[in-house]
Amino acid sequence: MNNDVNATWPKLPVALKKIAIDPTSDDYELMCSNYFVTGRPKLILRATTERDVIASIQYVKKIRENVSHSIPFSFRSGGHGISMASVNDGGIILDISQLSSITVTDAEQGLVQVQAGAVWGDVAEALRPFNLIISSGDFGDTGVGGLATGGGIGLLVRRLGLTIDHIVSARLVTADGEIRVTDHQKYPDLFWGTRGGNSQLGMVTAFTFKASKLVEEKSDISLPFTVQTIESQTSNLTKFIQQWQSWITHASSKMSSNLMLTAENRNTVHINASNFWAGSINSDAKALFKSALSLSEVNKQQLETKSYAELVKAPHIPHSGQQPVFVKNILLDAMNANIGDIISKILVSPGIIGIEMRAIDGPLNTINADETAWHDRKAKVFLAMWLQKDTEPHAKEVFGPLQDLGTGVYSSYSSDLSIEESQRIWPEETGRKLRKLITKYDPQHLFNQGHYW
Ligand SMILES: Cc1cc2nc3c(=O)[nH]c(=O)nc-3n(C[C@H](O)[C@H](O)[C@H](O)COP(=O)(O)OP(=O)(O)OC[C@H]3O[C@@H](n4cnc5c(N)ncnc54)[C@H](O)[C@@H]3O)c2cc1C
Repeated sequence: MNNDVNATWPKLPVALKKIAIDPTSDDYELMCSNYFVTGRPKLILRATTERDVIASIQYVKKIRENVSHSIPFSFRSGGHGISMASVNDGGIILDISQLSSITVTDAEQGLVQVQAGAVWGDVAEALRPFNLIISSGDFGDTGVGGLATGGGIGLLVRRLGLTIDHIVSARLVTADGEIRVTDHQKYPDLFWGTRGGNSQLGMVTAFTFKASKLVEEKSDISLPFTVQTIESQTSNLTKFIQQWQSWITHASSKMSSNLMLTAENRNTVHINASNFWAGSINSDAKALFKSALSLSEVNKQQLETKSYAELVKAPHIPHSGQQPVFVKNILLDAMNANIGDIISKILVSPGIIGIEMRAIDGPLNTINADETAWHDRKAKVFLAMWLQKDTEPHAKEVFGPLQDLGTGVYSSYSSDLSIEESQRIWPEETGRKLRKLITKYDPQHLFNQGHYW
């Protein structure tokens, strides 16, 4: 790289030179994208230690203070952020993907220390020999840092709740360049805001999670997972959604269900359902899989049994901005009678890729709303609309009728970075509390990437 990143910026400290990448570096093209966009940053700092993270944040602070507070600063863990804020043009990216160690510190208690640059597929693989599982996302390449600061709706959400509900402590680098170990006793305010508040209070370098031991009854054998995938269609989406919700609500918490809805016209909606059963197939599972087939006109069904680690295996696909999309979502405490009609109409709008629905009822609903910065603790269903990036200008209008039905929004699954969206994610007391913490710990808004106020 050039010795001077930018003539107007303060000199790069010696300690950061070895981790700095600029547009003249060989690795630049490999490092300037995330999963959704390619950025053109002036500088990428690829941290390999927590000390690098601290030095990088201190350097960025200096640039902001000496040059301009508007120089973009992004940080990236797994690079799968639907906010797309982990890359930028003309600024700095702090990449911590090399901070990816996963250590089981107490197998009996299920305590696991995970650096925030790890990806969830690798976490599942590292925990497999211990029969431990942390419920995270459904795709192995998603990063620990982004998901575990936002929420974490995983394949076991109906059994184990959100990922953030299993965090025991988090190591957070705040805007003053200090490392703060946060938990229920130490910095409880930061600990509250780090679980659901995204990156607004600082950068997490590592989490300690309490993983769950999921084994066959009266044995030490890890649970198998059976996945039922169903390709089907319906001409009455409202009826299907009502029946699906009733089916999953009455099902054991061992069952999870995700749907992807698509349509070419308003008369027929195609449904790709993935139903996951955690455990050996018993009569309950058989009955549930059978009744799932009666909810729509089935074209194809497949049953497959795998370990959890196999289900969420990380393919480690390099990033090149390969998914140019825009995503909006809502949380729903209850299902509206018109939802099927609204979705059917949206599905035929230009640029729509599909609408995803997941049942999230269960342990998520048992945590008090003021325990974490995830606001909507009554949510039973998560719904997300994926559309082509070039139709983004119409996204809010298209999504409007669904937005009106929502009782909340999941921060880590929204590409809408407007203030209105932040107010929907963190409304009322949750928002007031977060803003107070930002004023206290990050008055210069160093971490104002992604959703902001
Ligand atoms: C294909 C795909 C599947 C997904 N599936 C699921 C799913 O099943 N369940 C689910 O809950 N979510 C899912 N997501 C959403 C995903 O969890 C979020 O987008 C998350 O932010 C990705 O984290 P990351 O570290 O990979 O992202 P990055 O792009 O690295 O970061 C995204 C943002 O998170 C914040 N952030 C990142 N690292 C840190 C850190 N160390 N400390 C503080 N803040 C940080 C920053 O604001 C950053 O801009 C999925 C996303 C994709 C692309």
